[in-house]
Parts: sequence; structure tokens; C-alpha cells
Amino acid sequence: MKLTILGCQGAYPANSQATTSYLLESDNYFLLIDFGSGAFQNLAKIMEPTDIHALILTHYHHDHIADVGVLQYAFQLKSSLENKSKKEFVIYGHNHSDEFNRLVMPTVNQVEAYNPDEILRVGPFKITFLKTIHPVVCYALRIEDKHTKKSIVFTADSGYLADFITFARQTDLLLADAMFLNGKENQSTHMSAQEVGKIADLAQVKRVVLTHLPPLYQDLLLEQAKEVIPDNIPVTLAKDFDEYII
Ligand SMILES: [Zn+2]
Ligand SMILES: [Zn+2]
Repeated sequence: MKLTILGCQGAYPANSQATTSYLLESDNYFLLIDFGSGAFQNLAKIMEPTDIHALILTHYHHDHIADVGVLQYAFQLKSSLENKSKKEFVIYGHNHSDEFNRLVMPTVNQVEAYNPDEILRVGPFKITFLKTIHPVVCYALRIEDKHTKKSIVFTADSGYLADFITFARQTDLLLADAMFLNGKENQSTHMSAQEVGKIADLAQVKRVVLTHLPPLYQDLLLEQAKEVIPDNIPVTLAKDFDEYII
């Protein structure tokens, strides 16, 4: 499978980059993970946005859903403007918030609530969930490609949670919320560089990508994570349009 970063900045767009969004592709199936501010423009630079099949949302903070509405408008209008047959897509989200009910747009997209206690199968992907530490209900995702058995774990937004060590065990790529520099541990919102490093080390992941980045001090954040993560585990900062083949 291929992971493309569409947005990696925390809270608001900065450094000419969008907020949280990723594109996962396998077997000609295109799954979006969150769709924050600036994600639509980035997606349109690499593919026709209405060729995506589904979008899964971890939670409903603005920096993760800001461009969902304009994606719906693209599906609504583009096919009729181009005289093409109408396409629909599916939005998966949790239903522990009223926001879930606002995701429906008839004839544009279906909405399906995932049950975090069960495996969700979407195209070629098998997805499991872990509730994170965050001010609103939010789920981390472990996504496995059913053909290759390779996996990625996206922490979504979360403070440090020891359960990540089991959840991310030996994953091929850990995409981790690393919004804080060291010294800001045990927060109820996001993790620090060394907290992500500890999870990566103990879970024996194969690669780490730091994301949900602060607007400043990103190089220092990378340095601090590298101090904790063993040398044989590659670690990089997420950057819009970077691709990872897993
Ligand atoms: Zn959040
Ligand atoms: Zn966020």
C-alpha cells in the first residue's frame, strides 16, 4: 500500500502545509484518513478528488474535518459539470457526537458509523480502533492491507497512552501525533517527541513518521524523538506530498 501525506500540521495550516489528512492506496482503492484544512487542494494536485472511494474520520475537531464539506460539493457538482455519471463515496466516523449526523449529504455520500470494538473492512483494508486520550472522543487506527498483511498505525490526536505499545506492536509504519517538544509530557491532548519515541521503541515498530506538527521547532522535535528511538528505526517528519510505500 502507499501512504501519501496530504496534511501534517497541527491545529492550523502553517509552513505552506495543510492540517491532518492522509491518502492510503492499495489495489486501486483510495481511502482518505481525516480531511483537514487545505487537504482538498493537495488531493487535487495528485489525483481527481472524486476518484476516492471512502473517507474515515478519527474525530471531529476542525483541523481534521475542515475540508469535508468542499469534498462533498465536488462530488455533488463535478460530475454534472463534466456530463459524467454521478459517483458517491462513503464517510466512516464514530457516532459518539452530533457531528456524525451532519456528515450525510443525500446522493453525494453515505455515512457509516464504525463500531470501535469490531474490525471494520473497507476495500482492501482491515481497520481496528483504540480510543485515545483527547478532549473529545477520538480513535486511533491500525490499518492492515489484507493482501500483503502490512500495516500502519495512526495515533490520531492523543496524549500518551501505554496501550499504544500493544496497539502499534511491530507495525510497518507508526504515524504519530508529536505536537509537543520534550518537557510537555502527560498532556490530555497530544504527545511529546519523547513519548512517541518511547512507544516506537517498546512497540518495535519498523518506521516512524512524526505528524500533527507544531508550526515552529520541527527540527528540534525530530532531534528529540531520535534521542529515544533506536538507530535502526527510521524516523522522519511528515511533509505534504511525501509518499511511503509499505
Ligand atoms: Zn483533536
Ligand atoms: Zn488535531
